[in-house]
Amino acid sequence: MGLLSEGSPLSWPETKELADHVRKHGITQFINLYNLLKDRQGDVLKWGDEIEYMLVKFNHETKKAQLSLRGQDLLPVLQITEKETPEKATSLWRPEFASYMIEGTPGKPYGGLLAHFNIVEANMKNRRQEVCALLEKDEQILSITAFPRLGCEGFCVPEAKPDPVNSASRSLFFPDEAIYLAHPRFRTLTRNIRERRGEKVAINVPIFKDINTPSPFMEDLTVLGDDGEKGRSALPDHIYMDAMGFGMGQCCLQLTFQACNIKEARTLYDQLTPMCPIMLALTAASPLQRGYIADTDCRWNIISSSVDCRTREERGLEPLKTNRYRIYKSRYDSIDSYLSPEGERYNDIPLVIDQEAYKRMRDAGIDHLLAQHVAHLFIRDPVSLFSEKVNQNDEEDSDHFENLQSTNWQTMRFKPPPPKSTIGWRVEFRPCEAQITDFENAAYVCFIVLLTRVIVTYGLNFLIPISKVDENMKRAQKRDAILNQKFWFRKDLVSQSSPTDAESTARQEQICVEMTIGEIINGKGEEFQGLLPLISSYLSTVEVDADTHCTIHQYLRLIQKRASGDLMTTAHWIREFVTKHPDYKGDSVVSEGINYDLLTTMNSIQNGTIECPSLLDHPRTKTQSSIPETIRMAENCPSTC
Ligand code: ADP
Ligand code: MG
Ligand code: MG
Repeated sequence: MGLLSEGSPLSWPETKELADHVRKHGITQFINLYNLLKDRQGDVLKWGDEIEYMLVKFNHETKKAQLSLRGQDLLPVLQITEKETPEKATSLWRPEFASYMIEGTPGKPYGGLLAHFNIVEANMKNRRQEVCALLEKDEQILSITAFPRLGCEGFCVPEAKPDPVNSASRSLFFPDEAIYLAHPRFRTLTRNIRERRGEKVAINVPIFKDINTPSPFMEDLTVLGDDGEKGRSALPDHIYMDAMGFGMGQCCLQLTFQACNIKEARTLYDQLTPMCPIMLALTAASPLQRGYIADTDCRWNIISSSVDCRTREERGLEPLKTNRYRIYKSRYDSIDSYLSPEGERYNDIPLVIDQEAYKRMRDAGIDHLLAQHVAHLFIRDPVSLFSEKVNQNDEEDSDHFENLQSTNWQTMRFKPPPPKSTIGWRVEFRPCEAQITDFENAAYVCFIVLLTRVIVTYGLNFLIPISKVDENMKRAQKRDAILNQKFWFRKDLVSQSSPTDAESTARQEQICVEMTIGEIINGKGEEFQGLLPLISSYLSTVEVDADTHCTIHQYLRLIQKRASGDLMTTAHWIREFVTKHPDYKGDSVVSEGINYDLLTTMNSIQNGTIECPSLLDHPRTKTQSSIPETIRMAENCPSTC
């Protein structure tokens, strides 16, 4: 999760005092990086996934499943190969926010060969095995987005009690022990975000109202202890959560691509933006929150609220007195502006920027769109700072820039090359929820990478107004969005013609239409070609070996059937599992027993001991751990430029 500087974390008052210093030097560092690397050319396509996992301990006698707080025990062992013989590491492991989480990526990024699509799933499987070898009896590693009973009494092992008075979050539900404490970043962020905001974070998720759910649904939170705020932020008919861990303690699937130059990176950043809500809905996997069934399917709004450090003034609840700006979104949210010249005309939502930072970048020769993007990131304060890192050499370091960059957690991230590295301009795709199986995670990853190839090869245009992307983000999180919602999408992906600025908004609106995700992915007769048919026609023009072809075909079939509703989304499947469980009382409650049965079933689906055709069909990919030499030789690495 972003920059992991080591050292002594500063308190919020100390960090606040240094906020201008960090911003000033962060901008200098960005200008230096930009000047050094703006003309960098010819980087090849490289890409890699990131999967976050949860450690779960099962007690098969008491029928209990708990989160196992052993991330800090496992990580040093998992990182031995990377430290000692990095060239041999097939996976890289990083800490994540929670002590029950770990994050795994491939040992090195994949490249432009199509055959790389055939090693993704095997690498994911191997990653799991590396962890499994270190697990205790009845402990498992699951790639699930949300732990259904996160924050319920006894949800973790060793059991830990929340401390609403002295803990970093002051949560009524989420103890500090569940935060990854072996690195100071996560606890510091928790505390500083709360202190900056001036009160605890407040997350309210609409509850799914079933036949026996109390109406209005309102919990008595006073029994959990007086936290000084007495749960006054809890809304009726909502599941209330009050800690960073409820959001950052959920798992996701992310992807990073390297572009051939800065221009292509800006184009991909923009072109993939309209795909964010679509992929969020397709990967929806988190309908259970804090022991209840929610009326939403995704984690996005939860995680957004879980790190919302804006003060009451910044949120528009009080007139601006001590703060500089009214800020419309949390620092974890969908992006606010496009970066490419083609995208500019679709930047139609208010963009608050740090004027001084903007001016400095413009004076240094950075164009308007890039300068406003960075100046928007820099309206935020740093929320984690280490004393050893305060004074830096702006010619060589980029930590101050990275500090703000890596705590703007948006749907897309535009990543400049790190100083003194061989890495190029990259783009990160961040909306997807983690899926139960490696097959699904590999399928979504390969689908998005293939889509970037199609966009670049055919010069496709997906752009729609940013306000429409935001509207789609809301729709994507609704219960069964795939089945019930329509999404704004660009009508004509091939034509580059767009109304000019002078033309009316009404004309701009005609650029996009509302379609179901099934129609967007699979096509809608003569009216819309569909993304999968485009990918298929791309694949028919390139050489690909038989095994890779078979694997890709199965991945695309999963996407096709999830989009059409023939296969369930993970969220839909989870809802059905709970509501059809014999113990379920129609009251929206996910009991210990249901939690246990659900997680053991997910684990069995993941390791293949049970089949789940309603979710997966019958996948049999030909994934393998390495690319055969003959294929490597036969396939010419397609250039991305
Ligand atoms: P984050 O910014 O989320 O911490 P990292 O920089 O650690 O992400 O990288 C995340 C992903 O980027 C991994 O999947 C990794 O394989 C991939 N990756 C590493 N190097 C490159 C590169 N040069 N180009 C594209 N992706 C890369
Ligand atoms: Mg992460
Ligand atoms: Mg990432």
